[in-house]
Amino acid sequence: MKILRQRLLRGANLYARFPCILGLIDLEDLELAPPSDLLSVVERLHALVPTLRERCLAPLPPGFDAGTVIAHLTLELQCLAGAPAEFCDTSLAEGPSSLRRVVCAYQIEHIAQSAFSLAVYLVDALAHGLPFDYATPFDQLVRQSESYRIDPLTAAVLAAAHKRGIPANRITEHDALYQLGTGSRQRRYHPRLPNDTPLMGPWIAQDRQLTRALLDEACIPIPQGGTVDNLDDALRVARRLGERVLVMPGDAGAGDGGISECSGDRELAQAFAAARQFGRRVTIERLVAGARYVGEAGASSAGDGLAALCARASAKLGLEQGAIELAYDEADPGAASVIAVKAPPPLRGHARDIEVDEFLDMAGAGDAARIPVIAVTGTNGKTTTTLMIAHAAALAGRRTGHASTHGIFIGGSMVAEDDCTGYWSHRAVLSAPEVDMAVLETARGGILKRGLAYDQCTVGVVLNVSDDHLGMEGVDTLEQLARVKELIVACASGAAVLNADDEHCVAMARRIGHGAELIYFSLDPANPALRDHLGGGGRALVLDGASMVVADGAGKRILIGVADIPCTLGGRARYNIANSLAAAAALLGAGFHDAEIVAGLASFVSDIQSNPLRTNLFHVRGMTVIADYAHNAAAYAALAEAARAMTRGAVVGVVTSPGDRRDEELHRTGRICGMGFDKLVVYESASRGRVYGQAAAIIRQGALSARASADAVEGVDDRVLALRRAFALCSPGDVLVYCGTSVGALVEALEPIDPQAARAIAG
Ligand code: ATP
Ligand code: MG
Ligand code: MG
Repeated sequence: MKILRQRLLRGANLYARFPCILGLIDLEDLELAPPSDLLSVVERLHALVPTLRERCLAPLPPGFDAGTVIAHLTLELQCLAGAPAEFCDTSLAEGPSSLRRVVCAYQIEHIAQSAFSLAVYLVDALAHGLPFDYATPFDQLVRQSESYRIDPLTAAVLAAAHKRGIPANRITEHDALYQLGTGSRQRRYHPRLPNDTPLMGPWIAQDRQLTRALLDEACIPIPQGGTVDNLDDALRVARRLGERVLVMPGDAGAGDGGISECSGDRELAQAFAAARQFGRRVTIERLVAGARYVGEAGASSAGDGLAALCARASAKLGLEQGAIELAYDEADPGAASVIAVKAPPPLRGHARDIEVDEFLDMAGAGDAARIPVIAVTGTNGKTTTTLMIAHAAALAGRRTGHASTHGIFIGGSMVAEDDCTGYWSHRAVLSAPEVDMAVLETARGGILKRGLAYDQCTVGVVLNVSDDHLGMEGVDTLEQLARVKELIVACASGAAVLNADDEHCVAMARRIGHGAELIYFSLDPANPALRDHLGGGGRALVLDGASMVVADGAGKRILIGVADIPCTLGGRARYNIANSLAAAAALLGAGFHDAEIVAGLASFVSDIQSNPLRTNLFHVRGMTVIADYAHNAAAYAALAEAARAMTRGAVVGVVTSPGDRRDEELHRTGRICGMGFDKLVVYESASRGRVYGQAAAIIRQGALSARASADAVEGVDDRVLALRRAFALCSPGDVLVYCGTSVGALVEALEPIDPQAARAIAG
């Protein structure tokens, strides 16, 4: 038996609404072991772990296999270690028939991982009659668990919070600091600290490990490093960091003492011993060079820059006084990190006995402890819709945090860049004390790899489901892909926004029961699913003629003419009409007024600054250029349709696709492009595991399969040359659609053709 993969799904996931460990195992020869052999394994396990019979494995589910035994044993070992969990599941995994997916709930990550490994080891040894040692690893597990154990008061607070529907998040496993609730409605709880964030701040600031964890959670840069409790680990961390490091106490209560700068193993051992006098844990950090900046804690400063970073750091730590020290690069002040936090001495003798209910009353019950969350998923249009919703919410006066493929934005400032559509990014937004409302682009990959960072969202949006990423992460069919995306609407407490024009979304609508209101959106007033829904008194956002209307059982009202929504390019980009309808539906579901929705849609612009490479329009020597990030068949179809509506001339495409898609998908992308564009230049971008040029070749074949002749389907290796070739194929009045991930390539291609346009695009 072998463990092939192990994952911690930290939040709501495809199997449960709480954290689970997911193990992919290969049963190998045990797949075909006769039931009598398995029964004897179970009997011997019962002798070894008697509680297994009493608690979990009685009665064994019919047809159980070694995977089931491992799942139950993982659960039981966690219970015995004092970190009980109550759910486990086993299923066949895609691939060879000996693969099993074992899922088991957990409280503490490290305990779950150890329990799972121990369970696999034991079952394997018993089944093969191998010698094994149970006592030693089990003792280790129990000892490991003790360091994470929570006290009875904390347990009572967590249980009461759970009963009231208040989400509780332990910030780090080494410490009992909890975030109860989300965003600006959160409160912190710690069994040994004052229960008031400003009083707690100075205590937190003394604890280097906790301070680092909180800053890191907020995407505030900190020096590379780690916290350890023994010299071996200290040496390992220090060697990884390189030449000179700082060694300091990692626990609370050290103040400024015990910090030393050192290099080499000998100096490190001395520094470790010195820091160790202040507490159990020792933090080692890379010594950061550069200029220094000190900002006062609590001074509130919006926008970007060093002062704003200090303000964000002090807000995150809950510090109203003191100072934040930054190191930064004078050549690039954007690259700053927090190297020290100075806080006033914590108030001692503060009463910390709390009345659980009284405390939770202050934390707010259920919804009052949560900020509204709008989660957006789908194959195409997530980023655009997320930005549109966030823009409207901010315009309506909400302090908005949003995460998308572009990055994380808190109150209008970018705090992290690039793909931020998964667990850690969402956690950064949901834990930010200055955020009143969260809008979260939630991608397939993140759901599968880490689970969601929220157990519940106010509004869940699924825009569409089409083929992209099939064959990855065990998702092979559109139905399976739809089940992944469905998690977003299944978690919605307020409204589920679904596309009535997409059969997979309609199937989801049938499955979501109780709780959330279904709000459909549709480009087609005659859509049967939509009409049924309206007939039953439901609400929907519909394109009706040239207007966006809100329809319900009783009638309809016009929100806005689509020509007044800039990103629809005068109503010609139908995909952005669909995205605008979805955004409006989500805002409506979250309780925004019509006027707020209209103001948002009317002023959202998808240009190179605000939404780079999403329907960005330029004019070059009488031609129209659309620069876009399309990379699957549905997106190409949508773009070609929009481009066609903009001209009576030719529509020329410069297209590509990442190579990690299946042959069928690339071929279909090609066929759609072959049908949609009059002239086509195909280039290779990210080969991702394929031989260079192969992805482009399959797209070209697909394009040719849709056309009578090979005319005007060209392949050019380099994207800049591909663009230049396409410009050569264009005449004034034509539309050129450039699909790719690089604005720079467009600028470079244009320089010899139209330097003025190149400069304008480069900004
Ligand atoms: P990714 O999965 O790469 O993060 P995304 O879902 O966030 O993509 P966007 O970045 O908003 O999507 O849009 C990418 C491109 O997909 C658009 O520029 C457009 O070409 C196309 N697109 C956007 N919305 C739709 C839609 N509703 N239907 C079809 N295609 C769309
Ligand atoms: Mg995608
Ligand atoms: Mg995106």
